[in-house]
Amino acid sequence: MSENLAINSLLKEDLKQYIVKLGEKQYRAKQLWRWIYVNGVKSFNDMSDIGVNLRNKLNYEVSFNRLDADTHQISEDGTQKWLFSLKDKRKIETVFIPEADRGTLCISSQVGCTLSCSFCHTGTMALVRNLTADEIVGQVLSAKDSLFDWGSKNRKITNIVFMGMGEPLYNYQEVTKAIKILLDNEGLCYSRRKITLSTSGVVPIIQKLKKELDVSLAISLHAVNDKLRNELVPINKKWPIKELLSVLEVYPGVNNARRITFEYVMLDGVNDSIVEAKKLVSLLKPIHAKVNLIPFNPWPGSIYKCSSEQTIKDFADEICNNGGIIATVRHARGQDIQAACGQLKSNSERIGREKIKNINTT
Ligand code: SF4
Repeated sequence: MSENLAINSLLKEDLKQYIVKLGEKQYRAKQLWRWIYVNGVKSFNDMSDIGVNLRNKLNYEVSFNRLDADTHQISEDGTQKWLFSLKDKRKIETVFIPEADRGTLCISSQVGCTLSCSFCHTGTMALVRNLTADEIVGQVLSAKDSLFDWGSKNRKITNIVFMGMGEPLYNYQEVTKAIKILLDNEGLCYSRRKITLSTSGVVPIIQKLKKELDVSLAISLHAVNDKLRNELVPINKKWPIKELLSVLEVYPGVNNARRITFEYVMLDGVNDSIVEAKKLVSLLKPIHAKVNLIPFNPWPGSIYKCSSEQTIKDFADEICNNGGIIATVRHARGQDIQAACGQLKSNSERIGREKIKNINTT
């Protein structure tokens, strides 16, 4: 009995093979896929066109791996945050940000994070482990359950961003699998444009990302010189700014309609001068880029303060009006429930980095 097989860990092709192995016709896999990813059904017994024999086999062998929410908080601005408990009792956070024209689900790819970006609360947690594909997809399914987002023409979760806990490119294998499930046009059917993967700059993996997934890309840049970026985003010591940008200059398929987003957290007196805005423009000129300025969201114990509103405005004007690069300022959402960018942190305990599997940077 393979009790541990989570159905949402399987790509559609794998599900077909599994169904055939059970002695059933392949088309049953397609029916199951629809029940799970279009109708959001959580029990094989509710799948009316699946015969009793197959239902019994599946009930015996397969689980759905929805995630249990330990807490579910709703901010006064409508942002929602779930603290999900995994099978091994580790915790991850997932955030839903509703806006007038879209609903964005910010999902996690790791418990904790390998990196220690100094402005990020998650970065103060050690990496506990990578998430599996079914835990990544499970966040989407569980959030859809919670938001009653099944079967409606006006779906609530329209966009998915890998900007929660973790560096997704350090969990490439499982993230790739999860994205393929999210993209499947007979299931959840998210378009490549509506899925954004945010990375601190794992250069070798960026190179293969486009070929394999072609989803939208965001880069956590946050500084325009290596000295400061080494401090804010320590992965920069391995892949400095020049190396990172050179790979993005030739990132194929990026055009006016699909630009790479550069995230830049605004830290008072640290990285927010006009000189730095000008330097940012000159660095990004060769790239189809847009800049997303993120007012720093303080968390207990952080050493930084947020730049003033005027400083952020001047910085944005320099990039946009003088530099000719699109710049937007991200409005902080869900601050009252610690759901804003850079504030996610669960209290999972630490285990050694040596236990982490599937980290693939080559
Ligand atoms: S910003 Fe992203 S990569 Fe850096 S510590 Fe936070 S979660 Fe990790």
